[in-house]
Amino acid sequence: MISKNINSNKVVDVVLIGAGIMSATLGVLLKELDPELSIEIFERLDVAAAESSDAWNNAGTGHSAFCELNYTPQLEDGSVETKKAVAIAESFEISKQFWSFLVQNNLVDTPETFIKSIPHMSFVWGQDNVNFLKERYAKLQECELFKGMTYSDDAKQLSEWMPLVMAGRNPEEKVAATRMMLGTDVNFGALTRMMFNSLMTKPDVDMEFNKEVRKLKQKDGIWEVKIKDQETGDKRTVKAKFVFIGAGGGSLPLLEKSDIPEGKGFGGFPVSGQWLKCVNPEVIERHNAKVYGKASVGAPPMSVPHLDTRMIDGKKALLFGPYAGFSTRFLKNGSLLDLPMSIKVNNIRPMIAAGLDNIPLTKYLIDQVRQSPEDRLDALREYLPAAVMEDWELETAGQRVQVIKKSAEHGGILEFGTEVVTAADGSIAALLGASPGASTAVSIMVTLMERCFKDQMKTPEWTSKLKAMIPSYGKALSDDAALAASIRSQTTEVLNLQVTE
Ligand SMILES: Cc1cc2nc3c(=O)[nH]c(=O)nc-3n(C[C@H](O)[C@H](O)[C@H](O)COP(=O)(O)OP(=O)(O)OC[C@H]3O[C@@H](n4cnc5c(N)ncnc54)[C@H](O)[C@@H]3O)c2cc1C
Repeated sequence: MISKNINSNKVVDVVLIGAGIMSATLGVLLKELDPELSIEIFERLDVAAAESSDAWNNAGTGHSAFCELNYTPQLEDGSVETKKAVAIAESFEISKQFWSFLVQNNLVDTPETFIKSIPHMSFVWGQDNVNFLKERYAKLQECELFKGMTYSDDAKQLSEWMPLVMAGRNPEEKVAATRMMLGTDVNFGALTRMMFNSLMTKPDVDMEFNKEVRKLKQKDGIWEVKIKDQETGDKRTVKAKFVFIGAGGGSLPLLEKSDIPEGKGFGGFPVSGQWLKCVNPEVIERHNAKVYGKASVGAPPMSVPHLDTRMIDGKKALLFGPYAGFSTRFLKNGSLLDLPMSIKVNNIRPMIAAGLDNIPLTKYLIDQVRQSPEDRLDALREYLPAAVMEDWELETAGQRVQVIKKSAEHGGILEFGTEVVTAADGSIAALLGASPGASTAVSIMVTLMERCFKDQMKTPEWTSKLKAMIPSYGKALSDDAALAASIRSQTTEVLNLQVTE
Protein backbone atom coordinates (compact mmCIF):
# COMPACT_ATOMS: atom_id res chain seq x y z
CA MET A 1 0.00 0.00 0.00
CA ILE A 2 1.47 3.37 -1.02
CA SER A 3 0.85 6.50 0.95
CA LYS A 4 -0.93 9.20 -1.06
CA ASN A 5 -0.03 11.97 1.46
CA ILE A 6 -3.08 14.12 1.88
CA ASN A 7 -2.36 17.84 2.44
CA SER A 8 -1.29 18.04 6.08
CA ASN A 9 -2.93 21.42 6.81
CA LYS A 10 -6.48 20.30 6.25
CA VAL A 11 -8.82 18.92 8.89
CA VAL A 12 -9.57 15.33 7.94
CA ASP A 13 -12.98 13.87 8.65
CA VAL A 14 -11.74 10.62 10.16
CA VAL A 15 -8.45 9.45 11.67
CA LEU A 16 -8.14 5.72 12.30
CA ILE A 17 -5.34 4.79 14.70
CA GLY A 18 -3.97 1.30 14.03
CA ALA A 19 -4.25 -0.92 10.94
CA GLY A 20 -6.02 -3.93 12.45
CA ILE A 21 -9.35 -5.47 11.53
CA MET A 22 -11.35 -2.97 13.60
CA SER A 23 -10.01 0.12 11.78
CA ALA A 24 -10.30 -1.65 8.42
CA THR A 25 -13.95 -2.54 9.09
CA LEU A 26 -14.85 0.94 10.30
CA GLY A 27 -12.99 2.58 7.41
CA VAL A 28 -14.76 0.50 4.76
CA LEU A 29 -18.18 0.95 6.39
CA LEU A 30 -17.80 4.73 6.69
CA LYS A 31 -16.46 5.20 3.15
CA GLU A 32 -19.34 3.14 1.72
CA LEU A 33 -21.84 5.17 3.73
CA ASP A 34 -20.31 8.53 2.82
CA PRO A 35 -17.89 8.41 -0.14
CA GLU A 36 -17.01 12.09 0.46
CA LEU A 37 -15.34 11.41 3.82
CA SER A 38 -11.59 11.94 4.03
CA ILE A 39 -9.85 9.24 6.04
CA GLU A 40 -6.26 8.96 7.33
CA ILE A 41 -4.92 5.78 8.89
CA PHE A 42 -1.77 5.70 11.04
CA GLU A 43 0.03 2.46 11.85
CA ARG A 44 3.15 2.24 14.04
CA LEU A 45 4.46 -0.90 12.31
CA ASP A 46 5.52 -1.21 8.66
CA VAL A 47 2.64 -3.43 7.60
CA ALA A 48 -1.12 -3.76 8.26
CA ALA A 49 -2.59 -6.43 10.55
CA ALA A 50 0.69 -7.49 12.16
CA GLU A 51 -0.59 -7.53 15.75
CA SER A 52 -3.68 -9.46 16.98
CA SER A 53 -5.34 -9.50 13.55
CA ASP A 54 -2.50 -11.49 11.94
CA ALA A 55 -3.43 -15.09 11.15
CA TRP A 56 -0.73 -16.63 13.36
CA ASN A 57 -1.47 -14.32 16.29
CA ASN A 58 -5.09 -15.43 16.74
CA ALA A 59 -6.92 -18.74 16.41
CA GLY A 60 -8.87 -17.78 13.29
CA THR A 61 -12.06 -19.16 14.74
CA GLY A 62 -15.15 -17.56 13.27
CA HIS A 63 -16.60 -17.20 16.78
CA SER A 64 -20.27 -18.14 16.53
CA ALA A 65 -20.52 -19.76 19.99
CA PHE A 66 -21.04 -23.15 18.32
CA CYS A 67 -18.11 -24.72 20.17
CA GLU A 68 -16.82 -22.22 22.75
CA LEU A 69 -18.09 -23.48 26.10
CA ASN A 70 -17.19 -20.28 27.96
CA TYR A 71 -20.05 -18.47 26.19
CA THR A 72 -22.60 -20.80 27.82
CA PRO A 73 -21.85 -20.77 31.56
CA GLN A 74 -23.44 -23.31 33.86
CA LEU A 75 -25.51 -21.61 36.56
CA GLU A 76 -25.61 -22.68 40.20
CA ASP A 77 -28.87 -24.61 39.68
CA GLY A 78 -27.14 -26.64 36.94
CA SER A 79 -28.96 -24.96 34.06
CA VAL A 80 -27.04 -23.50 31.11
CA GLU A 81 -27.22 -19.80 30.23
CA THR A 82 -27.22 -19.24 26.45
CA LYS A 83 -27.85 -15.48 26.18
CA LYS A 84 -24.24 -14.59 25.36
CA ALA A 85 -23.93 -17.48 22.88
CA VAL A 86 -27.01 -16.29 20.98
CA ALA A 87 -25.67 -12.71 20.84
CA ILE A 88 -22.30 -13.92 19.49
CA ALA A 89 -23.92 -16.22 16.92
CA GLU A 90 -26.04 -13.27 15.77
CA SER A 91 -22.98 -11.00 15.53
CA PHE A 92 -21.10 -13.51 13.39
CA GLU A 93 -24.05 -13.68 10.98
CA ILE A 94 -23.74 -9.88 10.67
CA SER A 95 -20.02 -10.22 9.86
CA LYS A 96 -20.76 -12.88 7.22
CA GLN A 97 -23.34 -10.61 5.57
CA PHE A 98 -20.87 -7.72 5.41
CA TRP A 99 -18.09 -9.97 4.08
CA SER A 100 -20.54 -11.29 1.44
CA PHE A 101 -21.17 -7.68 0.39
CA LEU A 102 -17.39 -7.17 0.07
CA VAL A 103 -17.09 -10.28 -2.11
CA GLN A 104 -20.08 -9.41 -4.29
CA ASN A 105 -18.76 -5.90 -4.88
CA ASN A 106 -15.17 -7.01 -5.58
CA LEU A 107 -13.91 -5.10 -2.54
CA VAL A 108 -11.97 -8.22 -1.49
CA ASP A 109 -10.63 -11.21 -3.37
CA THR A 110 -12.39 -14.58 -3.57
CA PRO A 111 -13.86 -15.87 -0.27
CA GLU A 112 -11.36 -18.77 -0.18
CA THR A 113 -8.61 -16.24 0.50
CA PHE A 114 -10.02 -15.50 3.95
CA ILE A 115 -12.83 -17.89 5.01
CA LYS A 116 -13.26 -21.69 4.94
CA SER A 117 -15.77 -24.16 6.38
CA ILE A 118 -14.40 -26.18 9.28
CA PRO A 119 -16.61 -28.17 11.66
CA HIS A 120 -16.78 -26.61 15.13
CA MET A 121 -16.86 -29.14 17.96
CA SER A 122 -17.06 -29.01 21.73
CA PHE A 123 -15.42 -32.00 23.38
CA VAL A 124 -15.65 -32.96 27.06
CA TRP A 125 -14.79 -35.86 29.31
CA GLY A 126 -16.10 -36.91 32.75
CA GLN A 127 -19.77 -37.50 33.62
CA ASP A 128 -20.44 -33.98 34.97
CA ASN A 129 -19.06 -32.37 31.83
CA VAL A 130 -20.99 -34.79 29.61
CA ASN A 131 -24.20 -33.80 31.46
CA PHE A 132 -23.34 -30.14 30.98
CA LEU A 133 -22.73 -30.58 27.25
CA LYS A 134 -26.01 -32.42 26.78
CA GLU A 135 -27.90 -29.69 28.62
CA ARG A 136 -26.09 -27.00 26.60
CA TYR A 137 -26.97 -28.73 23.35
CA ALA A 138 -30.66 -29.05 24.31
CA LYS A 139 -30.87 -25.40 25.36
CA LEU A 140 -29.17 -24.15 22.17
CA GLN A 141 -31.61 -26.11 20.02
CA GLU A 142 -34.30 -23.62 21.14
CA CYS A 143 -32.62 -21.01 18.91
CA GLU A 144 -32.66 -21.16 15.11
CA LEU A 145 -29.03 -20.06 14.92
CA PHE A 146 -27.90 -23.39 16.42
CA LYS A 147 -30.05 -25.65 14.24
CA GLY A 148 -27.88 -28.22 12.53
CA MET A 149 -25.80 -28.92 15.63
CA THR A 150 -25.48 -32.61 16.53
CA TYR A 151 -24.64 -34.22 19.87
CA SER A 152 -23.07 -37.61 20.49
CA ASP A 153 -21.65 -39.55 23.43
CA ASP A 154 -21.09 -42.63 21.28
CA ALA A 155 -17.36 -43.40 21.00
CA LYS A 156 -17.76 -44.87 17.52
CA GLN A 157 -19.49 -41.76 16.22
CA LEU A 158 -16.91 -39.51 17.91
CA SER A 159 -14.09 -41.52 16.28
CA GLU A 160 -15.61 -40.74 12.90
CA TRP A 161 -15.87 -37.05 13.74
CA MET A 162 -12.34 -36.71 15.18
CA PRO A 163 -10.25 -39.86 14.80
CA LEU A 164 -7.04 -38.45 16.28
CA VAL A 165 -8.78 -37.11 19.38
CA MET A 166 -10.34 -40.49 20.08
CA ALA A 167 -7.33 -42.68 19.19
CA GLY A 168 -5.63 -44.17 22.25
CA ARG A 169 -8.32 -42.98 24.67
CA ASN A 170 -9.45 -45.11 27.60
CA PRO A 171 -12.66 -46.85 26.35
CA GLU A 172 -14.14 -46.60 29.88
CA GLU A 173 -13.89 -42.82 29.88
CA LYS A 174 -17.19 -40.91 29.52
CA VAL A 175 -16.84 -38.53 26.60
CA ALA A 176 -19.21 -36.44 24.50
CA ALA A 177 -19.08 -33.87 21.73
CA THR A 178 -21.27 -31.57 19.70
CA ARG A 179 -20.58 -30.81 16.07
CA MET A 180 -21.65 -27.89 13.90
CA MET A 181 -20.74 -28.17 10.24
CA LEU A 182 -21.43 -24.46 9.66
CA GLY A 183 -18.27 -23.51 11.61
CA THR A 184 -15.56 -21.48 9.92
CA ASP A 185 -11.88 -20.67 9.99
CA VAL A 186 -11.11 -17.06 9.10
CA ASN A 187 -7.80 -15.51 8.11
CA PHE A 188 -8.47 -12.14 9.71
CA GLY A 189 -5.04 -10.85 8.65
CA ALA A 190 -5.68 -11.49 4.95
CA LEU A 191 -9.17 -10.01 5.21
CA THR A 192 -7.84 -6.87 6.95
CA ARG A 193 -5.15 -6.29 4.33
CA MET A 194 -7.65 -6.77 1.50
CA MET A 195 -10.07 -4.30 3.09
CA PHE A 196 -7.29 -1.69 3.41
CA ASN A 197 -6.16 -2.31 -0.18
CA SER A 198 -9.67 -1.65 -1.40
CA LEU A 199 -10.07 1.42 0.84
CA MET A 200 -6.82 2.85 -0.53
CA THR A 201 -8.22 2.89 -4.06
CA LYS A 202 -10.85 5.44 -2.97
CA PRO A 203 -10.29 9.18 -3.17
CA ASP A 204 -9.24 11.03 -0.01
CA VAL A 205 -8.00 7.97 1.83
CA ASP A 206 -4.42 7.79 3.03
CA MET A 207 -2.54 5.25 5.08
CA GLU A 208 0.87 5.80 6.63
CA PHE A 209 3.10 3.12 8.12
CA ASN A 210 5.81 3.56 10.77
CA LYS A 211 3.74 6.38 12.23
CA GLU A 212 3.02 6.10 15.91
CA VAL A 213 0.29 8.22 17.44
CA ARG A 214 1.75 9.74 20.61
CA LYS A 215 -0.78 12.27 21.87
CA LEU A 216 -4.35 13.38 21.37
CA LYS A 217 -5.83 16.72 22.34
CA GLN A 218 -9.20 18.28 21.58
CA LYS A 219 -9.25 22.02 20.77
CA ASP A 220 -12.42 23.84 19.68
CA GLY A 221 -14.11 20.54 18.83
CA ILE A 222 -11.24 19.37 16.59
CA TRP A 223 -8.79 16.61 17.58
CA GLU A 224 -5.08 17.29 17.26
CA VAL A 225 -3.37 13.97 16.70
CA LYS A 226 0.40 14.03 17.34
CA ILE A 227 2.33 11.55 15.25
CA LYS A 228 5.93 10.38 15.43
CA ASP A 229 7.72 8.94 12.42
CA GLN A 230 9.31 5.76 13.76
CA GLU A 231 12.16 5.87 11.23
CA THR A 232 13.17 9.55 11.21
CA GLY A 233 11.89 10.62 14.64
CA ASP A 234 10.03 13.56 12.98
CA LYS A 235 6.87 14.71 14.70
CA ARG A 236 3.78 16.31 13.22
CA THR A 237 0.17 17.06 14.08
CA VAL A 238 -2.89 16.03 12.08
CA LYS A 239 -6.29 17.59 12.73
CA ALA A 240 -9.44 15.47 12.66
CA LYS A 241 -13.16 15.79 13.27
CA PHE A 242 -13.47 12.17 14.39
CA VAL A 243 -10.84 9.79 15.79
CA PHE A 244 -11.10 6.03 16.24
CA ILE A 245 -8.55 4.53 18.61
CA GLY A 246 -8.31 1.08 17.05
CA ALA A 247 -4.84 0.40 18.39
CA GLY A 248 -5.66 -3.03 19.86
CA GLY A 249 -3.61 -3.45 23.05
CA GLY A 250 -2.29 0.08 22.46
CA SER A 251 -5.77 1.62 22.78
CA LEU A 252 -5.80 2.08 26.56
CA PRO A 253 -2.74 4.40 26.75
CA LEU A 254 -4.16 6.51 23.90
CA LEU A 255 -7.58 6.69 25.54
CA GLU A 256 -5.87 7.90 28.71
CA LYS A 257 -4.04 10.57 26.69
CA SER A 258 -7.29 11.79 25.11
CA ASP A 259 -8.34 12.82 28.63
CA ILE A 260 -12.06 12.36 27.94
CA PRO A 261 -14.10 11.86 31.15
CA GLU A 262 -15.64 8.65 29.74
CA GLY A 263 -12.16 7.09 29.58
CA LYS A 264 -11.36 7.57 33.28
CA GLY A 265 -11.08 4.58 35.56
CA PHE A 266 -10.23 2.02 32.86
CA GLY A 267 -7.21 -0.20 33.32
CA GLY A 268 -5.69 -3.05 31.35
CA PHE A 269 -4.49 -6.52 32.27
CA PRO A 270 -2.22 -8.06 29.61
CA VAL A 271 -2.34 -11.80 28.92
CA SER A 272 0.16 -13.24 26.48
CA GLY A 273 -0.25 -16.51 24.65
CA GLN A 274 1.64 -19.37 23.07
CA TRP A 275 0.58 -22.12 20.67
CA LEU A 276 1.91 -25.51 19.83
CA LYS A 277 2.06 -25.62 16.04
CA CYS A 278 2.04 -29.03 14.38
CA VAL A 279 4.93 -29.67 11.98
CA ASN A 280 3.96 -33.21 10.95
CA PRO A 281 1.94 -33.06 7.67
CA GLU A 282 0.41 -36.49 8.34
CA VAL A 283 -1.05 -35.38 11.68
CA ILE A 284 -2.24 -32.08 10.17
CA GLU A 285 -4.00 -33.97 7.37
CA ARG A 286 -5.79 -36.41 9.68
CA HIS A 287 -7.56 -33.76 11.77
CA ASN A 288 -10.29 -31.55 10.35
CA ALA A 289 -12.10 -29.54 13.01
CA LYS A 290 -11.85 -26.87 15.63
CA VAL A 291 -12.24 -28.76 18.90
CA TYR A 292 -12.84 -26.64 21.99
CA GLY A 293 -12.77 -28.04 25.52
CA LYS A 294 -13.47 -26.78 29.02
CA ALA A 295 -11.11 -24.30 30.66
CA SER A 296 -9.24 -25.25 33.84
CA VAL A 297 -10.19 -23.58 37.12
CA GLY A 298 -9.00 -19.96 37.21
CA ALA A 299 -8.24 -19.84 33.47
CA PRO A 300 -9.37 -16.70 31.67
CA PRO A 301 -12.14 -17.53 29.15
CA MET A 302 -9.86 -16.82 26.20
CA SER A 303 -7.46 -19.51 27.41
CA VAL A 304 -9.90 -22.33 26.77
CA PRO A 305 -7.72 -25.00 25.14
CA HIS A 306 -8.54 -25.85 21.55
CA LEU A 307 -7.19 -27.98 18.77
CA ASP A 308 -7.57 -25.92 15.69
CA THR A 309 -7.48 -26.79 12.03
CA ARG A 310 -6.43 -23.61 10.23
CA MET A 311 -6.32 -22.60 6.58
CA ILE A 312 -3.60 -20.02 6.12
CA ASP A 313 -2.60 -18.84 2.64
CA GLY A 314 -4.22 -21.90 1.08
CA LYS A 315 -2.31 -24.28 3.37
CA LYS A 316 -3.79 -26.47 6.07
CA ALA A 317 -2.27 -26.07 9.55
CA LEU A 318 -2.93 -27.36 13.08
CA LEU A 319 -2.56 -25.42 16.31
CA PHE A 320 -3.10 -26.29 19.94
CA GLY A 321 -3.43 -23.77 22.74
CA PRO A 322 -3.33 -21.08 23.71
CA TYR A 323 -1.16 -21.47 26.77
CA ALA A 324 -1.59 -18.24 28.68
CA GLY A 325 1.28 -16.24 30.06
CA PHE A 326 2.03 -12.91 31.64
CA SER A 327 3.92 -10.03 30.11
CA THR A 328 3.64 -6.34 30.95
CA ARG A 329 3.55 -5.53 27.20
CA PHE A 330 0.22 -4.36 25.75
CA LEU A 331 1.23 -5.28 22.19
CA LYS A 332 3.35 -8.17 20.88
CA ASN A 333 5.67 -5.47 19.53
CA GLY A 334 5.12 -3.28 22.59
CA SER A 335 7.23 -2.15 25.55
CA LEU A 336 7.68 -3.80 28.96
CA LEU A 337 6.74 -0.41 30.42
CA ASP A 338 3.22 -0.53 28.87
CA LEU A 339 1.49 -1.83 32.01
CA PRO A 340 3.30 0.31 34.61
CA MET A 341 2.90 3.44 32.44
CA SER A 342 -0.86 2.82 32.16
CA ILE A 343 -1.41 3.05 35.92
CA LYS A 344 -2.92 6.43 36.79
CA VAL A 345 -4.51 8.00 39.84
CA ASN A 346 -7.99 7.42 38.35
CA ASN A 347 -7.52 3.67 37.68
CA ILE A 348 -5.27 2.43 40.47
CA ARG A 349 -8.21 1.58 42.76
CA PRO A 350 -10.14 -0.45 40.13
CA MET A 351 -6.90 -2.21 39.17
CA ILE A 352 -6.03 -3.23 42.74
CA ALA A 353 -9.64 -4.30 43.43
CA ALA A 354 -9.77 -6.38 40.23
CA GLY A 355 -6.42 -7.94 41.13
CA LEU A 356 -7.62 -8.94 44.61
CA ASP A 357 -10.84 -10.36 43.15
CA ASN A 358 -8.95 -12.48 40.62
CA ILE A 359 -6.40 -14.40 42.69
CA PRO A 360 -7.28 -17.72 40.92
CA LEU A 361 -6.49 -16.07 37.57
CA THR A 362 -3.13 -14.79 38.86
CA LYS A 363 -2.32 -18.25 40.21
CA TYR A 364 -3.36 -19.82 36.90
CA LEU A 365 -1.13 -17.44 34.92
CA ILE A 366 1.85 -18.08 37.21
CA ASP A 367 1.36 -21.84 36.76
CA GLN A 368 1.13 -21.40 33.00
CA VAL A 369 4.32 -19.32 32.82
CA ARG A 370 6.17 -22.01 34.81
CA GLN A 371 5.04 -24.81 32.47
CA SER A 372 7.76 -27.08 31.13
CA PRO A 373 7.61 -28.57 27.59
CA GLU A 374 6.43 -31.83 29.24
CA ASP A 375 3.56 -29.99 30.98
CA ARG A 376 2.51 -28.55 27.62
CA LEU A 377 2.64 -31.98 26.04
CA ASP A 378 0.46 -33.35 28.86
CA ALA A 379 -2.15 -30.66 28.15
CA LEU A 380 -2.05 -31.50 24.43
CA ARG A 381 -2.43 -35.21 25.16
CA GLU A 382 -5.78 -34.54 26.83
CA TYR A 383 -6.92 -33.75 23.28
CA LEU A 384 -4.54 -35.90 21.25
CA PRO A 385 -3.58 -38.88 23.43
CA ALA A 386 -1.00 -40.10 20.90
CA ALA A 387 0.78 -36.75 20.48
CA VAL A 388 4.59 -36.79 20.45
CA MET A 389 6.83 -33.82 21.18
CA GLU A 390 8.75 -33.96 17.87
CA ASP A 391 5.55 -33.17 15.92
CA TRP A 392 5.02 -29.80 17.65
CA GLU A 393 6.79 -26.44 17.85
CA LEU A 394 6.15 -23.58 20.27
CA GLU A 395 4.97 -20.27 18.71
CA THR A 396 4.16 -16.93 20.31
CA ALA A 397 0.54 -15.82 19.82
CA GLY A 398 -0.87 -12.29 19.97
CA GLN A 399 -1.12 -10.23 23.13
CA ARG A 400 -4.49 -9.45 24.71
CA VAL A 401 -5.29 -6.67 27.12
CA GLN A 402 -8.32 -7.46 29.23
CA VAL A 403 -10.37 -4.50 30.41
CA ILE A 404 -10.48 -3.47 34.05
CA LYS A 405 -13.25 -1.03 34.84
CA LYS A 406 -14.72 0.76 37.81
CA SER A 407 -17.46 -1.01 39.73
CA ALA A 408 -19.53 0.51 42.51
CA GLU A 409 -19.81 -2.86 44.25
CA HIS A 410 -16.27 -4.24 43.91
CA GLY A 411 -14.18 -1.10 43.28
CA GLY A 412 -12.99 -2.63 40.02
CA ILE A 413 -13.78 -5.64 37.83
CA LEU A 414 -11.87 -7.55 35.20
CA GLU A 415 -13.88 -7.96 32.00
CA PHE A 416 -13.26 -10.53 29.29
CA GLY A 417 -15.31 -8.92 26.53
CA THR A 418 -14.84 -5.77 24.48
CA GLU A 419 -15.74 -2.27 25.54
CA VAL A 420 -16.47 0.59 23.16
CA VAL A 421 -15.72 3.87 24.95
CA THR A 422 -17.10 6.99 23.26
CA ALA A 423 -16.99 10.68 24.17
CA ALA A 424 -20.33 12.37 24.84
CA ASP A 425 -19.92 14.53 21.71
CA GLY A 426 -19.23 11.43 19.57
CA SER A 427 -15.93 12.89 18.32
CA ILE A 428 -13.73 10.05 19.56
CA ALA A 429 -14.14 6.35 20.28
CA ALA A 430 -11.81 3.64 21.55
CA LEU A 431 -12.10 -0.11 21.48
CA LEU A 432 -10.76 -1.91 24.54
CA GLY A 433 -10.59 -5.65 25.20
CA ALA A 434 -10.28 -8.56 22.83
CA SER A 435 -13.05 -11.10 22.98
CA PRO A 436 -14.92 -12.40 20.97
CA GLY A 437 -12.87 -10.09 18.84
CA ALA A 438 -12.33 -10.04 15.13
CA SER A 439 -15.35 -12.27 14.38
CA THR A 440 -17.69 -9.63 15.74
CA ALA A 441 -15.83 -6.61 14.29
CA VAL A 442 -18.77 -5.60 12.10
CA SER A 443 -21.42 -5.44 14.83
CA ILE A 444 -18.97 -3.72 17.18
CA MET A 445 -18.28 -1.05 14.56
CA VAL A 446 -22.00 -0.64 13.77
CA THR A 447 -22.62 -0.04 17.50
CA LEU A 448 -19.80 2.49 17.52
CA MET A 449 -21.30 4.32 14.52
CA GLU A 450 -24.72 4.35 16.20
CA ARG A 451 -23.10 6.28 19.03
CA CYS A 452 -20.69 8.54 17.14
CA PHE A 453 -22.60 9.10 13.88
CA LYS A 454 -26.01 9.10 15.53
CA ASP A 455 -27.76 11.54 13.20
CA GLN A 456 -26.31 10.17 9.96
CA MET A 457 -27.21 6.59 10.96
CA LYS A 458 -30.88 7.61 11.12
CA THR A 459 -30.98 9.11 7.63
CA PRO A 460 -32.75 7.11 4.89
CA GLU A 461 -29.54 7.24 2.81
CA TRP A 462 -27.33 5.60 5.46
CA THR A 463 -30.07 3.17 6.53
CA SER A 464 -30.62 1.93 3.00
CA LYS A 465 -26.85 1.58 2.41
CA LEU A 466 -26.50 -0.30 5.69
CA LYS A 467 -29.25 -2.66 4.58
CA ALA A 468 -27.43 -3.27 1.32
CA MET A 469 -24.28 -4.20 3.29
CA ILE A 470 -26.06 -6.05 6.11
CA PRO A 471 -29.50 -7.20 4.88
CA SER A 472 -30.65 -8.15 8.41
CA TYR A 473 -29.72 -4.68 9.78
CA GLY A 474 -32.30 -3.61 12.38
CA LYS A 475 -33.75 -7.12 12.80
CA ALA A 476 -32.87 -9.92 15.21
CA LEU A 477 -32.10 -13.19 13.41
CA SER A 478 -32.42 -15.15 16.64
CA ASP A 479 -36.14 -14.22 16.77
CA ASP A 480 -36.91 -14.84 13.11
CA ALA A 481 -36.30 -18.40 11.95
CA ALA A 482 -37.28 -17.76 8.32
CA LEU A 483 -35.04 -14.71 8.00
CA ALA A 484 -32.13 -16.49 9.71
CA ALA A 485 -32.43 -19.45 7.35
CA SER A 486 -32.63 -17.27 4.26
CA ILE A 487 -29.68 -15.02 5.28
CA ARG A 488 -27.61 -18.08 6.14
CA SER A 489 -28.29 -19.72 2.84
CA GLN A 490 -27.24 -16.53 0.99
CA THR A 491 -24.01 -16.00 2.93
CA THR A 492 -23.13 -19.70 2.69
CA GLU A 493 -23.45 -19.47 -1.07
CA VAL A 494 -21.62 -16.17 -1.57
CA LEU A 495 -18.80 -17.09 0.80
CA ASN A 496 -18.60 -20.48 -0.88
CA LEU A 497 -18.79 -22.34 2.42
CA GLN A 498 -18.79 -26.09 1.87
CA VAL A 499 -21.20 -27.18 4.58
CA THR A 500 -21.50 -30.95 4.21
CA GLU A 501 -22.96 -33.55 6.57
C1 LIG B 1 -4.16 -15.47 21.15
C2 LIG B 1 -5.36 -14.83 20.51
C3 LIG B 1 -6.34 -15.62 19.91
C4 LIG B 1 -7.46 -15.02 19.31
N1 LIG B 1 -8.35 -15.81 18.66
C5 LIG B 1 -9.40 -15.25 18.02
C6 LIG B 1 -10.28 -16.05 17.26
O1 LIG B 1 -10.10 -17.27 17.15
N2 LIG B 1 -11.34 -15.46 16.66
C7 LIG B 1 -11.56 -14.10 16.77
O2 LIG B 1 -12.54 -13.63 16.22
N3 LIG B 1 -10.73 -13.31 17.48
C8 LIG B 1 -9.65 -13.84 18.10
N4 LIG B 1 -8.78 -13.06 18.80
C9 LIG B 1 -9.07 -11.62 18.95
C10 LIG B 1 -8.74 -10.83 17.70
O3 LIG B 1 -7.49 -11.21 17.20
C11 LIG B 1 -8.75 -9.34 18.04
O4 LIG B 1 -9.97 -9.00 18.67
C12 LIG B 1 -8.63 -8.46 16.81
O5 LIG B 1 -7.62 -8.89 15.95
C13 LIG B 1 -8.37 -7.04 17.28
O6 LIG B 1 -8.24 -6.21 16.16
P1 LIG B 1 -7.80 -4.71 16.34
O7 LIG B 1 -7.89 -4.07 15.04
O8 LIG B 1 -8.57 -4.11 17.47
O9 LIG B 1 -6.29 -4.80 16.92
P2 LIG B 1 -4.93 -5.24 16.23
O10 LIG B 1 -5.09 -6.22 15.16
O11 LIG B 1 -4.00 -5.56 17.35
O12 LIG B 1 -4.45 -3.90 15.53
C14 LIG B 1 -4.07 -2.76 16.25
C15 LIG B 1 -3.03 -2.03 15.44
O13 LIG B 1 -2.77 -0.77 16.06
C16 LIG B 1 -1.38 -0.51 15.95
N5 LIG B 1 -1.03 0.47 16.98
C17 LIG B 1 -0.97 0.28 18.31
N6 LIG B 1 -0.64 1.43 18.94
C18 LIG B 1 -0.52 2.36 17.96
C19 LIG B 1 -0.20 3.75 17.97
N7 LIG B 1 0.05 4.41 19.11
N8 LIG B 1 -0.12 4.40 16.79
C20 LIG B 1 -0.35 3.76 15.61
N9 LIG B 1 -0.65 2.44 15.55
C21 LIG B 1 -0.76 1.77 16.72
C22 LIG B 1 -0.76 -1.88 16.14
O14 LIG B 1 0.57 -1.93 15.65
C23 LIG B 1 -1.72 -2.76 15.37
O15 LIG B 1 -1.34 -2.92 14.02
C24 LIG B 1 -7.63 -13.61 19.36
C25 LIG B 1 -6.64 -12.81 19.95
C26 LIG B 1 -5.50 -13.40 20.50
C27 LIG B 1 -4.43 -12.53 21.07
